[in-house]
Order: sequence, then C-alpha cells, then structure tokens
Amino acid sequence: MVLLVELQFLGGAEQVGSLGMVLKDGTHKVLFDYGMTPSDPPEYPMPIPPGVEYCFLSHCHLDHSGMAPVTTRGPHTQMVTTELTRVIAELLLMDSLKIARAERYPEPFTYKELKNWMTRTVGMRREETFRLKGVEVDLTSAGHVPGAAMYRWRGSKDLLFTGDVHTRPTHLVGGATPLEAEILVMESTYAGREHPDRAEEDERFRKEVESVVGQGGQVIVPAFAVGRTQEILMTLAECNYDIWVDGMGRAVNEMYLDNPSHIRDPKALRKAIDAAYIVEEPYDREVALSEAEVIVTTGGMLDGGPVLHYLKALHKNPKNAMFMVGFQVEGSNGRQLLDSGAITFDDRTLRPKLQIKTFDFSSHAGHSDLVSLARAVRPKTVVLMHGDNREALASELRKEFDVKIPLNGETFSL
Ligand SMILES: [Zn+2]
Ligand SMILES: [Zn+2]
Repeated sequence: MVLLVELQFLGGAEQVGSLGMVLKDGTHKVLFDYGMTPSDPPEYPMPIPPGVEYCFLSHCHLDHSGMAPVTTRGPHTQMVTTELTRVIAELLLMDSLKIARAERYPEPFTYKELKNWMTRTVGMRREETFRLKGVEVDLTSAGHVPGAAMYRWRGSKDLLFTGDVHTRPTHLVGGATPLEAEILVMESTYAGREHPDRAEEDERFRKEVESVVGQGGQVIVPAFAVGRTQEILMTLAECNYDIWVDGMGRAVNEMYLDNPSHIRDPKALRKAIDAAYIVEEPYDREVALSEAEVIVTTGGMLDGGPVLHYLKALHKNPKNAMFMVGFQVEGSNGRQLLDSGAITFDDRTLRPKLQIKTFDFSSHAGHSDLVSLARAVRPKTVVLMHGDNREALASELRKEFDVKIPLNGETFSL
C-alpha cells in the first residue's frame, strides 16, 4: 500500500503573506510556519485545526512567524526553529504587538502567550535533525536571512519545505543548501522575475553613494532591521564613510554576532558593524544628522521608525538622497513615495526634493534560481506556494515535474 501525505494551506498559498501549511502523515499532524500580513488592517491565516503536535518555523519574518504565539496556546504543541530565529522572532513579534496597540488593531495574541511561546520553542542548530516518533526532520540553510531554515520531513514520503529561499550567497549569508526529496514545497515570490547581477548592483550602489557624498550630500538608506541593515553595512565596508545605524537593526546586529554559525563571514560582519556609529540615544540622532554621510535606519518601508525623523530633516536639500534597498509593498509610505513623489505621515504631506533611487538587494531566489533549486532537489512533485504569479513558474516546471498550485484552504493528497 502506498502511503500518502495530506497537505492544506491555512494561508499564504496564493500570496506573499500569512503563510501556514498543515501536513498530515499517518498519525502525525504538523504545521509549517504560521504568519500574518502586516497590512492595514492586518490579515491572518485560517485557524489551526485540532491535533497539531509540532510547528516548524522557517524564519523570523512576520509573514511566516507573525502568529507563532498562537501555535503554542494549547497544552501540547511545541515549536521548532533555529535558535537565531527564535530570538529574532521574539523581537519582531514584540514589535508587532506594539504596532497593533498603537494602531488599535485587535491583538492576535497576548504578551503572556508570546512569553509562553518562547519557552515552548526548541532552538536548533543550523544543520541538525529533529526526531519525533518514527519521523526525522532535517534542518538545512535556506539562505534568505541568517537563521532561515528549510525542513526535510522524512516520514512516509520525503518532503522539503523551503520557507523563503535564496540560493546565491550575499555578503551576509551563504546560499541555500538543498536536500533531495520526493515532494518539494517551494516559495515562488519571484516567479516570472529575475534579479540583476548582485555584484553589479553592489557596484552601482557604491558609485551612487560616492556621487552623493562627493558633492557634500547625505544618504538615507531605509532598511529592514533583519538582514538588510547588515547587508548594506557590509556592502559599504571598504568605503570609509561615516555611517550611522539607527533603529531595531542595532539589536539584530548583536544577535547575529552571537550566532556566528549562520553568518557567511562573521569577522567581516563584525568589522562592518564596528566601523559604523550606533545611535544609542536621542542626542546621537542630532549628531548623526550633522555628521553622517550615510544613515542606515528602520523602517524599511517608511511606515514608522527613525527614518521619518531623518527624512523630515534632510528632504529639502537636492544634494541629499534616499536609496531604497528593500521591497515597498502596496499601501506602504515607501510605495506612495516611489509612485507619486509624495509621502504622508504625522498628518502632513512632504514632497521631498532629495534624490530617490531604488536598488535590488532582494534575499529571494529569482525565477531561474527557483528552477535550478527544483532540479537540485530532484522531486517528483513540486508544490508552489507563497507567490501571486505561480503560473509563470509552473508552466516551466511542468516540463520536468508534476506541479501543484494549491488554493488556500484546499486539502490535497500526494
Ligand atoms: Zn522572509
Ligand atoms: Zn515570506
């Protein structure tokens, strides 16, 4: 008798956000990721069905981890992730609670549930195997951001769940290490789109910074705290600018340095961090405004954080610049600024005169890299998730594999 596994997406199959996938294999029922979409108002996945024993969390980003504290509400469920993801996710979840409170959204979990989640989460090493009754689950690096894991479930079938994946090395983190499996559940954020060559993009970024600083301007780089802030510091490491770092990126710096096994070149990261000035208190912010050549700061999409303070102070001078290095989601202040040249916050609208340029420092695999990843895993079936243009990838993969494009909520067997 051929044993089948059953899959169901609670969310995030058809879009980048609110991911959650239930796997049923014999008597086991487990969950991979349980995220939310930090939109206005936020969106959440379907509720967790009863009987889930373990949850495997791929990485800290809120579209994967945002509802994690809900998974350990019941008395029996445990979460498994890397130790680095465990500590960074706590920071991001705490922040998302703060935002929910400030924006008066209903809070999806309590502070106490978040603390409970921390104690009920097993922090694994980078390449370790988790054992539950009759099944082994291998962790392997997903690239993407430090600590990001892919999981290979070795039950009645081998299944590899990618979470978010980046196959090429960046300054900060090495590329993903794929493992072979019969079923590949793969993210498809960049289906149908390619990234520019990273080394060329690095060079373009450094040249543009040099051109602004050379003419006496200052560059604001809005960057996500997790991964992008550190990648930018490493990209500029050899350039000897006065770089200031502000926002949550500071805390993440320390967590990365404490978990060097997830970092491609921990010495180079330390050097890049040590070479930057850190904004510790409000007074430093004023020093940064007068002294800095480059300011790397949260929030990455201009929806809050110290970046707005710097923008207010520096936007009138056309010698200054703001370099966008992260994805700007629909509805964010950053997207509004790129589309219309204006930005509205604190009840006023600015039309900045500073130069605005965008760069592609994406930490997701592009279309061809996803195809190569599928080939490396050598699956029979590829299940595409976490993308709004999955057909673009499916049409190519169908030549070699059986391809599934499930809908949220749909249950199917493989
Ligand atoms: Zn991610
Ligand atoms: Zn994601």
